[in-house]
Amino acid sequence: MLPPSVRLWRQATNTEPMGTQRIWILPDFLASQIAAGEVIQRPESVVKELVENSLDAGATQIAVNVRGAGKQLVHVVDNGCGMSREDLALCIRRHATSKLRSAEDLHRITTLGFRGEALAAIAAVAHLEIRTRTAEEHTGWRLLSEPDAQPRIEPWAMEPGTQVFVRNLFFNVPARRKFLRSDLSEFRLVSDLMVRFALAAPHVRLTFSDERTLIFDLPAGTLLERLERLFGEEFARALIPVEAAEEGVVLSGFIGHPQQARPSRAQQFLFLNGRWIQHKGIAHAVFTAYEQLLEPGTFPPFVLYLQLDPERVDVNVHPQKHEVKFEDERFIYGVVHTAVARALQSHNVAPTLGWELAQAPLERQPDPQSGQVLVNRLTGEIVLPERFHRRAAPVGVRPVVLPAPSVPSPAPAQQPELAELPPSPRCWQLHRRYILWETPQGVRIVDQHVAHERVLYERILRLFERGEPLPQRLLLPLTVQLDPAAFATLEELRSELERLGFELRLLPPNQVELQAVPAELPPGREEQLLCELLESYREYEQHVPGGVRERVAAALACRMAVKSGEELSELQIRTLLQQLLECRLPYVCPHGRPVFVELPLEELDRRFERR
Ligand code: ADP
Ligand code: MG
Repeated sequence: MLPPSVRLWRQATNTEPMGTQRIWILPDFLASQIAAGEVIQRPESVVKELVENSLDAGATQIAVNVRGAGKQLVHVVDNGCGMSREDLALCIRRHATSKLRSAEDLHRITTLGFRGEALAAIAAVAHLEIRTRTAEEHTGWRLLSEPDAQPRIEPWAMEPGTQVFVRNLFFNVPARRKFLRSDLSEFRLVSDLMVRFALAAPHVRLTFSDERTLIFDLPAGTLLERLERLFGEEFARALIPVEAAEEGVVLSGFIGHPQQARPSRAQQFLFLNGRWIQHKGIAHAVFTAYEQLLEPGTFPPFVLYLQLDPERVDVNVHPQKHEVKFEDERFIYGVVHTAVARALQSHNVAPTLGWELAQAPLERQPDPQSGQVLVNRLTGEIVLPERFHRRAAPVGVRPVVLPAPSVPSPAPAQQPELAELPPSPRCWQLHRRYILWETPQGVRIVDQHVAHERVLYERILRLFERGEPLPQRLLLPLTVQLDPAAFATLEELRSELERLGFELRLLPPNQVELQAVPAELPPGREEQLLCELLESYREYEQHVPGGVRERVAAALACRMAVKSGEELSELQIRTLLQQLLECRLPYVCPHGRPVFVELPLEELDRRFERR
């Protein structure tokens, strides 16, 4: 009995390998089948390739119908540009594409497809029918293809566009067929894919059905409309918009409110130049921007779109193109992280800080209707009294702007007056541990250590970002003895520490000479701080989200912050509260403890009410 490969060889070529020859060229049909395995693994891959072709063809309407989870039939109809008879004959050949002409094109791919492999791969493992017509021609064409046989082409009457039918997937590759999962799981994969397409192209009407059941029919619209259709109005309304544009990188889309976080990443969608991608780094950039606003083990939903010059990214690293390589990953990480952090901050994801109001150039003015209103002297905007009572301004609600007053707006000469010191907050230290802080809404109790930690944490991170250390030379270099674990940690963190202003000389096996320290470090405690930093860094590996820098910053901040039990002067308290107000996320410390608790006036009133 001949081995199966030789039998195949004989069938294909009708020749016998020569006596000593062990290498032979795979017959075409076998080579195509193997190649097909790279591109087409399951019904989901068929749907993906076909819908991508429809999008590339400029379709504004695409309908997808599957039968047997796509194992029996995948049918895709589009109103795109269609194909001529010549192109139709070519399109199922391997490496046949209209999208890539030269090697340079490969570096600036703007279409979803470009390898010219999908239709060939499908034709190798299924019965394929394509009907197509261009707008210029009066009639269309139909192609019927079966693996290993000459395709047939005949005229076909139809509207402009393309219809593709893929029947009996893997009928000729039993091993592949066996590898498929149950209809239910295959169907899930297809429908997840369809949701991604729906988000990738909200401007395209997209219909998806399973035999006779309509799964969705989404009209063309805006992204927000599409999100409403897919996930419900309530969900969409709570989302927070994100926008950024920096050095050719454009980011847009929505992120979830921390309360919308889910125990899985299923609602995280990232698109790069219209293509759905998976990218751990970017997901991480989003995640860490939430810091401790998320419950442990939950992930924020997001739908984000990155646009950048195709030359700055390589989509050619994976046959399915889900993974991409950015030329400048760190930069893109930064853009995403900052934009998300800014969006969260500007949408009051935590209670608003009452003192902000007092600080802004706001003025109480008598109002005939409601007694008193607050007016922003800079803009003439009237901020309604409700602002005082609302804890967090809901997303999308802006202060009402009344018509400009008839009084002439203040002349620029009056402006310096606005810079006068804001009224001081009323505050007291309690038990050398807490700060009691009166706010327009009630009372806020601040943990002095945690608050200071937060302030320092952000300041250190900013130092990292600026990357312009201010080293303070030590009069005499300090030699510090470390244990082997601490020494290893120091080696790992060295470059980051130097970015902060440390200057170190490592003296293996376990000594380090401290030559300079960041100017911000309190003098006299350098050695102790370094040791403690190395110690807590490891501890924080588990608790602080983010990378090396976040952990170094958290460890340093914790060690440098005022301790519980320290007496603070009034000025120190005020400075601390002032700095806290300037924080990006003043509500939690780097490892998740709350900075303050809020006691609203209504709550106090309620407790004193007569029963
Ligand atoms: P690729 O998309 O990588 O070019 P495919 O094998 O998917 O390779 O398709 C081959 C070619 O067939 C495409 O380049 C395109 O010119 C043509 N084509 C495929 N599907 C469509 C469609 N729905 N409408 C118009 N042209 C299509
Ligand atoms: Mg394609």
